[in-house]
Formats: sequence, C-alpha cells, structure tokens
Amino acid sequence: MHIVCCIKQVPDTAEVKIDPDTNTLVRTGVESISNPYDIVAVEAALRIRERYGGRVTALSMGPPQAESSLREALAMGVDDGILLSDRAFAGSDTLATSYTLGCAVRRLSLDDPVTLVLCGKQAIDGDTAQTGPGIATRLGFTQFTYVTEVDWVDLENGRIQVKRKLEDGLEVIRGPLPALLTVELELAKPRRASLPALVRSLRAPVANWDAKAISASPKELGLKGSPTWVRRISSPPAKTGGPLFYAGEDLRESVAQTLDILFSDKTFAAKFMNRWEA
Ligand SMILES: Cc1cc2nc3c(=O)[nH]c(=O)nc-3n(C[C@H](O)[C@H](O)[C@H](O)COP(=O)(O)OP(=O)(O)OC[C@H]3O[C@@H](n4cnc5c(N)ncnc54)[C@H](O)[C@@H]3O)c2cc1C
Repeated sequence: MHIVCCIKQVPDTAEVKIDPDTNTLVRTGVESISNPYDIVAVEAALRIRERYGGRVTALSMGPPQAESSLREALAMGVDDGILLSDRAFAGSDTLATSYTLGCAVRRLSLDDPVTLVLCGKQAIDGDTAQTGPGIATRLGFTQFTYVTEVDWVDLENGRIQVKRKLEDGLEVIRGPLPALLTVELELAKPRRASLPALVRSLRAPVANWDAKAISASPKELGLKGSPTWVRRISSPPAKTGGPLFYAGEDLRESVAQTLDILFSDKTFAAKFMNRWEA
C-alpha cells in the first residue's frame, strides 16, 4: 500500500496578519511550522503502515524552506519526502494548489500506485478546507472528510471504513479505495521523533519536483490557474457577550431576575405575548 501525506508549512501563529495593500499573509518575522492537522495525518499514515505494510510519502508544495516540514515527517518515520517547488506555483489558490498536488500524486502513482492520500482537515492559515476535497475530485478518489478514526483497510477487496465527525455525532462510513481522507486532530497523537531519527532525517534526500516533473499544464498553475482572488479582508466585529443570569441560592430571586432580563428584550416580550394570547 502506498500512502501519501500532504503537508503544508504555515506561519506559527493563530493571529495571522494580513498586508492591507496586497491582501496577502505577512510572513516576515513569523516562524513557520508544519500544519498541526498534517502532522496528525503523518502519524495516522505511519500507524496504517504498521498495521498493513507499505510505504508513506510526504508531499509539500511551497518555497524551499518547506523542506523542513518534510524532514520533520522523515524524522517521524515516513519513507520519502517530495517538495514541489517552482516559481510557476506561486500565487496558487486552492484550485491551483489541488491541481498541483493532484499531478504529483499521479506522478507518484506511476512508480507505485497510491492507495490513500491523507490531508489535514484544514490549514491553520488559509483555513478553507478545500484542498483535500479538490485533490480527491481531480484524482477521482473516494473522499472522506473530518475523519476521527480509521477502522480498517481491506486491501484485498479495495475497501476502507472510517468514522467521521458530524455536528451531532459520528458517522461510520465505508467505501472503495483509492481514497483521500481529511483528518481531525483527535485521529492520532503524533509521536516524538527519536534523536537518531532526527539526525538521520537531516541527511535523508528530499526530492525537489518542478512543474515539468509532474507534467503539469502551465495554464492551470499559480496565478494563471487561480480564478479566485482576495478582494478585501476584514475581521468580524468582536462579540460583546450576552446578559448574565443570576445563579444564586435564592431560586425566586434568580427566576425574577431572569424574567426581567428576558422581558427587557422587546422582541422576546412581543413573541412571548403573541404565543401566550394564542
Ligand atoms: C488568489 C490567491 C492567491 C494566493 N496566493 C498565495 C501565494 O502567493 N502564496 C501562498 O503561500 N499562498 C497563496 N494563497 C493561499 C493558497 O491558495 C492556500 O494556502 C492553499 O491553496 C491552501 O489552501 P488552505 O490554506 O485554505 O488549505 P486547506 O484547504 O485548508 O488545507 C487542507 C489540507 O490540504 C493540504 N494542503 C494545503 N496546502 C498544501 C500545500 N501547499 N502543500 C501540501 N499540502 C497542502 C494539507 O494537508 C492541509 O491540511 C493564495 C490564495 C488565493 C485565493
């Protein structure tokens, strides 16, 4: 079984700053880390490999420094790291990003057919959660989003069963391989790499693939292949918080105060009276 993990390098901050002139992320002075969801995907891939055999390839599209995220995955135990780096990829939106990553998975499949692609649920900077489903659609892979558990992989019959998170519960779902999973943080706790593994990962070769290496069409890459653009970015207004309800010992006083608060809202009071009269 060949498993591919897609790892995005992101700024190490939840407080992403935006350049107001260009509407792009301010990256200077911000340290980069591997997207936390993607490290969970790596851990999950390693556990699947331990159970069923096979190999794991880590894939990242980004500038040369994204190589350090691939080395982190190599230290955890993946077999290969591939960096997709080419000026032609710059300015990609999620459509162009998923196209590029999809081309790389196709290229990898020529040597060893890819059975599973694991992505994070979302990147903590871009946050769109579109890239994984975009790759799956382009490759024609079954897609399972918000995965919290991989129950089993049946290689003989080409099937997989996972649990995925819904707003009000969990869904147990199975389908045919090859498949792409986007993973939630609770899927697996990432292992810590040992010191010898860390040292080995620093020397391990990381292949660098450009647009030509993945036979990508230039018009679908980077800015040219990106039909969306950021017109304006703004923060939602801060929430002011609702009324505070008294939760003291005196039940009468609590109820009286709660009713006072509720009836001070004219809309609530009108609705209540309408229903009362009906
Ligand atoms: C018009 C436009 C221009 C942009 N220009 C730039 C730019 O110049 N430079 C720039 O850095 N960003 C740019 N972006 C942002 C870029 O498109 C997104 O970062 C990228 O498409 C991934 O989307 P996301 O961050 O929402 O990831 P999500 O879709 O939330 O990510 C989900 C998962 O997909 C995988 N994934 C996502 N991106 C990658 C990757 N690069 N490599 C490997 N796996 C990945 C990971 O597993 C990740 O957990 C631009 C966006 C737009 C709309």
